[in-house]
Parts: sequence; structure tokens; C-alpha cells
Amino acid sequence: MAARWQTARVLDVRDETPNAKTLRLRLDAPSPHLAGQHYVLRLTAPDSYTAQRSYSVASAPDGTAEIELTVERLPGGEVSEFVHDVVEPGDELEVRGPIGGWFVWPGDTPVLGVGGGSGVVPLMAMLRQARRSGRSDLVRLVVSARSPADLYYAGELPGPQSTVVYTRHSPPGAARPPGRLTATDLAPLVRDGETAYVCGSPAFCDTVTDLLLGLGVPVDRIRVERFGPSG
Ligand SMILES: Cc1cc2nc3c(=O)[nH]c(=O)nc-3n(C[C@H](O)[C@H](O)[C@H](O)COP(=O)(O)OP(=O)(O)OC[C@H]3O[C@@H](n4cnc5c(N)ncnc54)[C@H](O)[C@@H]3O)c2cc1C
Repeated sequence: MAARWQTARVLDVRDETPNAKTLRLRLDAPSPHLAGQHYVLRLTAPDSYTAQRSYSVASAPDGTAEIELTVERLPGGEVSEFVHDVVEPGDELEVRGPIGGWFVWPGDTPVLGVGGGSGVVPLMAMLRQARRSGRSDLVRLVVSARSPADLYYAGELPGPQSTVVYTRHSPPGAARPPGRLTATDLAPLVRDGETAYVCGSPAFCDTVTDLLLGLGVPVDRIRVERFGPSG
């Protein structure tokens, strides 16, 4: 059944990084989601003009009516700038979801998640679910961020299940110099029998897919979610 539009109340808005905010929303009823799924957010102007964009669920499925979305501010972005500049706790937002049947994690299979920038959002839902269910061994993430200040979920992400690769500025004393993700970063993390979930900009997704294929990951074990312009 197609997900219906509903009104969600904004419970909380918090800064994830200087360019990303996490919204905690209460739906009008619990809508169980799978890690990796997204919601569509629709804004309607007084003259009835509408704009809608997709946002992945960052929170783990927990059986409640609350979900979290993390939105990166894109300069000039119609919806993301509204979220950053206007939305505040107590507001009501129109959303539809959960949506997606391919880029989803069933919760019991080994995962290598590779996320760039806001592409970490659906992967974080997977890691949170794995930790919640006591199956942290199933999920490993490789996260590409520009600098430590740009790392989403900085209080939760670091740990044995994640490798962070900085592209522009590394933390002081880091062994790896800043630079784009390479096969050398991914090679030690690739395991037989796992599914790779790749998420980020179209260019990031294409590069990582090529790297994984080059490392011998079968094409049918790679799932990709591109965060390009969406309708
Ligand atoms: C399935 C799916 C899940 C998504 N999940 C998230 C998420 O969890 N968090 C998140 O922040 N975004 C996510 N996105 C991207 C999001 O849907 C919007 O594309 C993004 O917020 C920009 O919308 P906007 O209205 O602010 O910008 P627009 O007004 O649409 O565009 C402004 C400018 O930015 C460019 N642009 C648009 N989208 C992007 C983009 N994603 N990256 C780079 N440039 C872009 C446009 O070409 C234009 O030049 C997801 C996209 C998809 C398809």
C-alpha cells in the first residue's frame, strides 16, 4: 500500500554539524520503517506552490511514532534552507513514508556501509539498529567527511564498527593524510558474503562502486542510493 501523507510534529531540532540539522518528528501513528528507508517532506507555500524532497530516516526502527531525519544545508536549496532557517520545535510538517524497498537492511545480514557526507544518514540507521539489537558485529561503516567538524553523529559514530576518512582536514596526529577514499581504505574491510550499501552524491556513489567492483565485490552485492536532486 502506498504510504499516505500525514502531518508530523517537530519535537526537536538540533545541530549535527554547522551545515546539518537533525529533526525529531512525531508521526500521527507508529509507521515501522526498515533501516535505509526514507520519507518525503512536502512544503506548501501560501499560494499553494509545493516542493518535496526525500530524506532518509536516521533513527533505528524502534516501534514508536518518532523518527529522526538529518538534513544538510545546500546553498540556495529550496527545502534544505527552509528546514535550516525556518523549522522549529512545535511546527507541523507534511511527510509521506516510509519509502524504499531496495536500499534497506533486513537487520540480520552482514553490511559494509560506505557513506559520503549526508550519505551517512541511512547507514547510521543501520548501525543504530545493529547496536540496539546486540548485533553490532553485522555492520561496519566507512564514512567520508570533509573534516572532523563535518562528521555527522560524532558522538555515536566512532567505534570499532566505523572507519572515518577525512577528505580535506584530518584530526591532529591522524595516521592517514586527508584525501579521497581509495581502494586501500576499503580493501581491509571487504568481507565475503556481505552486502555493500553505498550512499552519497552521484559522483561519490560511482567512485565507490568502481572501487568495490575492483576489490572483487560482486555487482549483485552492491546497493546504491544517490542523493542527487530529488522529486
Ligand atoms: C532517497 C533520497 C534520500 C535522501 N536523503 C537525504 C538525507 O537524509 N539528508 C539530506 O540532506 N539529503 C537527502 N537527500 C537529498 C534531498 O532529497 C535533496 O535533494 C536536498 O536536500 C536538496 O534539496 P533542496 O530543495 O534544498 O535543494 P534544491 O532547491 O533542489 O537544489 C539546490 C541546488 O543544489 C543542487 N542539489 C540538489 N540536491 C542536491 C544534493 N543532494 N547534493 C548536491 N547538490 C544538490 C541542485 O542541483 C541545485 O543546484 C536524499 C535524496 C534522495 C533521492
